[in-house]
Amino acid sequence: MKTNVFNQIVSIPKTFLDNGIRSTMPWELRKRILRLNLFLLFAMAVAFTSLVFSYVNQLFVSSMVHLFAVFLVTMGFFLNKDGKLAASKIVGILTINLHLLVISHLEGLRSGTYMLIFPLLFTLVFVIDIRKSYWQITLTGILTLANTIFIFLITPYENALQKIPKELYSSLFNTNLCISLTLTAIFAFIILKTMDNHEMKILEEKNLSETIYDTSLDAVFIVHASSGMVTGCNSRALEVFGYDDKTPIINKPAAELLGENVSEHIGLFNAHAEEERLAWDGNMELIKQSDIPFHAYVNIVPFHHEQQLYCKISILDITDIKVAEFETIRAKEKAEKATLVKSRFLSMMSHELRTPLNGIIGTTNLLLQDEILESQKPYMDVLKHSSEHMLNLVNEILDFSKLEAGKMILENNQFNLRHFLQKAAQPFKNSGNGRVRLIFDIDESLDKEIVSDELRLNQVLNNLLSNACKFTEDGQIVIRAKHESSDGQNLRVTFSVSDTGIGIAPQYIRQIFESFTQADAETTRKFGGTGLGLAISRHIVEKMGGELMVKSILGEGSEFHFTINLRISKNRRALLQPEKENVLIALTGLRILIAEDNPVNLIVVRRFMQKWGIRTDEAANGLELLELYHRNEQYDLLLIDLEMPEMDGAQAVAEIRKTNTYIPIIAFTAAVYDNIQADLMQKGFNDFIPKPFKPEVLHRKIRQLTAYSAIERVKYV
Ligand code: ADP
Repeated sequence: MKTNVFNQIVSIPKTFLDNGIRSTMPWELRKRILRLNLFLLFAMAVAFTSLVFSYVNQLFVSSMVHLFAVFLVTMGFFLNKDGKLAASKIVGILTINLHLLVISHLEGLRSGTYMLIFPLLFTLVFVIDIRKSYWQITLTGILTLANTIFIFLITPYENALQKIPKELYSSLFNTNLCISLTLTAIFAFIILKTMDNHEMKILEEKNLSETIYDTSLDAVFIVHASSGMVTGCNSRALEVFGYDDKTPIINKPAAELLGENVSEHIGLFNAHAEEERLAWDGNMELIKQSDIPFHAYVNIVPFHHEQQLYCKISILDITDIKVAEFETIRAKEKAEKATLVKSRFLSMMSHELRTPLNGIIGTTNLLLQDEILESQKPYMDVLKHSSEHMLNLVNEILDFSKLEAGKMILENNQFNLRHFLQKAAQPFKNSGNGRVRLIFDIDESLDKEIVSDELRLNQVLNNLLSNACKFTEDGQIVIRAKHESSDGQNLRVTFSVSDTGIGIAPQYIRQIFESFTQADAETTRKFGGTGLGLAISRHIVEKMGGELMVKSILGEGSEFHFTINLRISKNRRALLQPEKENVLIALTGLRILIAEDNPVNLIVVRRFMQKWGIRTDEAANGLELLELYHRNEQYDLLLIDLEMPEMDGAQAVAEIRKTNTYIPIIAFTAAVYDNIQADLMQKGFNDFIPKPFKPEVLHRKIRQLTAYSAIERVKYV
């Protein structure tokens, strides 16, 4: 309770002292306001004590004057509170001077009121920062002195305006003396205490700055700009440059210690000392005392001290970072080189593997179309399935190497989305020995022409469907395409493939999207696979702007889904409807010149063409091709292998295009690379067929190009 009352009493002057001070203000301003508050508080104390004393002694006119002084000082407080610091100061100084003048005149010199001038003068000196405002302190001093002289000149010895009993004078004198001495003592104490606190604060701040300065990671030097001499440095500077103490550093030319480069920057700051110049920073090589060079990040900041320009130079030793950077770049280059070598190797291998595969698959297809013994059919099926599977693996590895090298570029083809999905699901219709039902759930509204990379989208769906078939023994597989939204230009579609297969354990869900990763070792043993399909699919979907996701419950099934935007084609529906599988119409009457150096491939292609009623001539290299071509220019189409001895396909085509810009030419190639379409077009080809080829694709392209050339012969550029 006691403490409470005491706290409240103590809190009154504190409230006055904090008047107008906000925590967001700079320290200097807060100090100035505090001083002014102290001065106003003092004036208030004088006026209020005098008011009480006058009232008790029935000096009512004096009381009124004191009351008016209290009012004016309160006004000073309010002005200060509103941030009007200068106005508040003027009101305060004028009030005390006027107050003394009026009250002295009213009570006479005998009452000793003038004595209050001394503590007032004392505090005034305190209010005004002597170090900063000489003119203010001089002005205030002159004003107070003039006022004092004025008081002594005009004030009568005894009062004339107010009736004061004679015996009261001595008590008035004593009281004023007491007030003057007491207040002087109190304020002397406060001023000393404040000064002391201030000193302490400065000392603490100095210690703090020095600690920060010395414990900084930067080596810091202070250089006098015009002389270029080092005037100070921190402990880290000694450490970095290998000195034991500051003696050899201080007063040494910065150029000698920090090099010409730093010195030049200091010189520039000095030359433009009058301008507002920003700091400079950058990397440079500096040399230690032991002549060892090191990489440094240097920051030079100019500043003024005692009207002289100095530069603070902070130096951070970044040798380790530079070495690490260098190592990282080297490691990156090495890794890139290794990836390049790997990609080249994979691409070469895949090319080498594709050529014999072309022969195997082509021959198998031919055999399957011929009359074969019923007993041979299962073996032929195994041969077909295995060779196609191998081709798949080769393609996956090639795709993966492309993705790794960041070389997979999406192409834009126009196709009908619904037809495309039907075609994508077709090969999986009869999977699962009749125990798995394939359900096709495609929104009607997706019967639209769109522009996207048909091949890659098919690759993703094909991978998801073949996984679903592989991991589902019975039940159903659903391929679903849901129309999410459309803005007239784009379709937003969610594709999903769900199955009722073995499912995936939660701990494997994340890792199945990594390359060469399968759910567990058991899967590899039982189902085979490379673990690349999902990794490739995920990347393709990401390139298309979606995210491949999976929901799965172990033992119940899985659902893979992704949502992408597909551009709606502005062109009318593609003229050619998707071809009916296996119904390859005869192309009787066409005459085609084939150039192919691999005898197996040649046999396969020739055999198919003959089946379709096409007449063929054959060349084993570019030179033979040109010879045959010039002998008989009546060919409807040329099918030319790119890689041939003597003269390769591209060279031969260049020759032909010199005289014939109309004849359709298809490139036949095992090397599939990025932008192949554009590259081959530029070389004069009209289209290409990757090896191993699908008979129906070869058939379609021949049909398209020959029909095209018959109707409308477009000049090739
Ligand atoms: P691969 O099938 O060649 O092994 P993928 O990347 O396509 O490689 O698949 C990685 C792994 O993800 C598979 O080995 C299998 O463990 C799991 N997985 C993929 N699809 C399914 C599915 N529909 N049901 C169960 N597991 C699946």
